[in-house]
Amino acid sequence: MRYEAPQSLEAAVALLARANGDARVLAGGTDLLVQMRADVVEPELIVDIKGIAETRAVAREGGGWRVGAAVTGAELGENAALKREWPGVVEAANLIGSTQVQGRATMGGNLCNGSPAADSVPALIAAGAVAAVAGPGGRRDIPVEDVMLGPRKLSLTKGELVVSFFLPPRPKGSGDAYLRFIPRTEMDIAVVGAGVNLTVGAGGVVTAARVSLGAVAEKVLLVEAAAAAIVGTRLAPPAQERLEAAARAACRPIDDKRGTVEFRTQVAGVLTRRAALIALGRAREN
Ligand SMILES: Cc1cc2nc3c(=O)[nH]c(=O)nc-3n(C[C@H](O)[C@H](O)[C@H](O)COP(=O)(O)OP(=O)(O)OC[C@H]3O[C@@H](n4cnc5c(N)ncnc54)[C@H](O)[C@@H]3O)c2cc1C
Repeated sequence: MRYEAPQSLEAAVALLARANGDARVLAGGTDLLVQMRADVVEPELIVDIKGIAETRAVAREGGGWRVGAAVTGAELGENAALKREWPGVVEAANLIGSTQVQGRATMGGNLCNGSPAADSVPALIAAGAVAAVAGPGGRRDIPVEDVMLGPRKLSLTKGELVVSFFLPPRPKGSGDAYLRFIPRTEMDIAVVGAGVNLTVGAGGVVTAARVSLGAVAEKVLLVEAAAAAIVGTRLAPPAQERLEAAARAACRPIDDKRGTVEFRTQVAGVLTRRAALIALGRAREN
């Protein structure tokens, strides 16, 4: 196995594109190294991207934020301005693992590991985040909901890597939230995760919303019908019920020891409603 730590994106892309066998990007390594130890993957080439400045920066851009794909959860949690504007995204990233894991784990790795239960992904999708991707063919932007195709399957092609995420400008009167259900209090994989981002206008009416669900399908879902159920409403109980119903209708989960289909579907509705109410409270304060 070869380990490389290029200092530029061009060098990283060239290494990944030229590799013959399995080549993997290394960010925090909290998924990759565990999988290597368990012999689930045996890469011939590992390209550590943490030396590439663009993957490690957090900066304002065009009224929004540009967040490097290799920024750790701990670093995101320490960024008070980002946390104030995108509390749901930062909270979701900060739910990943323990304090030790937080010092390594990144949102790029969380997305590119390709788990439908990845915690930061529903929050990023609800936020309308766009992944900036670099590859042998140049740069392209992909909405986060289009990166993952299924368990361990991504729409990235050979040689491509996620450089950063763009979080759009936050309109006045908007807020986001992410909630997950896990059997333990921490250090567990989401049985259901729900991210909601919404904007309220005059008279407290919801003018825009995005709803995303994790761990209830083969990939993290953008649930447009759930957003449509609350746009144009004040999120009063009847709208909350329609939101819950739309969230449940989108679920096609697996049935396993951590949650039956019925349980995951039920919890998806409850968490979506609760996340929407937290997002609403935050929107009213903005
Ligand atoms: C004890 C423990 C607890 C955990 N708890 C949680 C949890 O609560 N919630 C949760 O969602 N996850 C959890 N995880 C899983 C893991 O920590 C997260 O998925 C984390 O975000 C992965 O990020 P990373 O930087 O460590 O990724 P890495 O392990 O470096 O990479 C993961 C995968 O993504 C690829 N990759 C990484 N970065 C990029 C990039 N920029 N472009 C293209 N491909 C890339 C790698 O090649 C690899 O295949 C836990 C893991 C451990 C060990």
